[in-house]
Amino acid sequence: MAETKLVHSPLLTYASMLTLLSFTPPFVILMWYTNVHADGSILKTFNYLRENGLQGLINIWPKPTAIAGKLIICYALFEAALQLLLPGKRVEGPISPTGHRPVYKANGMQAYAVTLITYISLWWFGIFNPAIVYDHLGEIFSTLIFGSLIFCFFLYIKGHVAPSSTDSGSSGNIIVDFYWGMELYPRIGKHFDIKVFTNCRFGMMSWAVLAVTYCIKQHEEYGRVSDSMLVNTILMLVYVTKFFWWEAGYWNTMDIAHDRAGFYICWGCLVWVPSIYTSPGMYLVKQPVNLGLQLALYILVAGLLCIYINYDCDRQRQEFRRTNGKCTVWGKTPSKIVATYTTTSGEKKTSLLLTSGWWGLARHFHYVPEILAAFFWSVPALFNHFIPYFYVVFLIILLFDRAKRDDDRCKAKYGKYWKLYCEKVPYRIIPGIY
Ligand code: NDP
Repeated sequence: MAETKLVHSPLLTYASMLTLLSFTPPFVILMWYTNVHADGSILKTFNYLRENGLQGLINIWPKPTAIAGKLIICYALFEAALQLLLPGKRVEGPISPTGHRPVYKANGMQAYAVTLITYISLWWFGIFNPAIVYDHLGEIFSTLIFGSLIFCFFLYIKGHVAPSSTDSGSSGNIIVDFYWGMELYPRIGKHFDIKVFTNCRFGMMSWAVLAVTYCIKQHEEYGRVSDSMLVNTILMLVYVTKFFWWEAGYWNTMDIAHDRAGFYICWGCLVWVPSIYTSPGMYLVKQPVNLGLQLALYILVAGLLCIYINYDCDRQRQEFRRTNGKCTVWGKTPSKIVATYTTTSGEKKTSLLLTSGWWGLARHFHYVPEILAAFFWSVPALFNHFIPYFYVVFLIILLFDRAKRDDDRCKAKYGKYWKLYCEKVPYRIIPGIY
């Protein structure tokens, strides 16, 4: 059984775990309340809480309702059915520290297309009005908050009594196990991969579904869709389309190949992604901004460019690994480090580290266009309120922390070869600065 290792010091780990476990659920509700009922003003929400205290928070916290439950269950079952039934190429994930290699069916792009076509058709033909989702958003988030906590308990119990593979284990501490998870690749049966469902088909898919929902709701409310909303929706949809286009690549990333299925990843994808990642669009529904054609186009083009560069960084790394370094990077033979490492089962393996192209600029340069893209789909809200920028600020913190976690993990994995990479590419994220 593999053991869970703490990346930060135990004190910092426990403090951040307990803080996130207790503050993220009310935060989701306050984000919804501020955008939908407080004109996007944090000050209004703050004053309300100051006057009414904890009881005020309890008063605005919507109760989980039957309609919210039905909407979530229909959506989840639909996505689970698409994940299981749609055809797709057989794809192998990266080999795990215990030598296990997960196998997937790559049908994300098909599921994404079917989901959006179905959702928009239901609206177009008058069968289901997506504005209902917006009108019950608070109840939906509340139901998701509690439902996903129960789901994380299920993951915790499953990790103890029925792990799906050898990539599972306990740290010996119940909070750590619940927070970071027990299993790396939990499955129901042989084929239903739980992390593909929570991270991709529920979480990332909900981002696109809610982006469309916000657009339709604004249209219903004002009889038109503002240019700011259009730029925001197009950029978020292009970003999510890019994600599903590259979904099999995502299965090689930290979220899937290193972070176990627990509160951090699964609750995050089931609740935090639909509520916080979509928040700039949620804000714009009731606070439309008219940018004018020229400004709207500038923002759109800048956002598209950032999404493309972020995609190209991921593509470059994967192409390099897939071809074993026998590819060109920016028109040249790539420079690389041949790194050896030992798996926990004692096997010696070799891996290649790319040291040119985007990966020669900084060790995590791909986070720069990721953050800028988020800025460009938030900036259509202009600068009346801070709340549309919350996601960008959160993303900066998340990715700077992630870069450190990844560097520490790679240092432990590759030892002197990682040191060599750090000497060749000294900056962690921003070339010349950090
Ligand atoms: P990746 O997992 O894709 O990349 C890091 C891994 O790549 C390392 O763990 C290492 O794994 C390998 N690696 C590191 N350096 C090199 C190198 N020079 N050459 C070859 N391989 C290398 O990173 P992320 O999961 O963080 O990001 C993937 C995508 O997801 C990005 O586009 C990112 O912007 C996006 N993202 C978005 C988030 C959001 O919330 N919006 C959050 C996180 C990521 P190995 O063990 O295989 O060597």
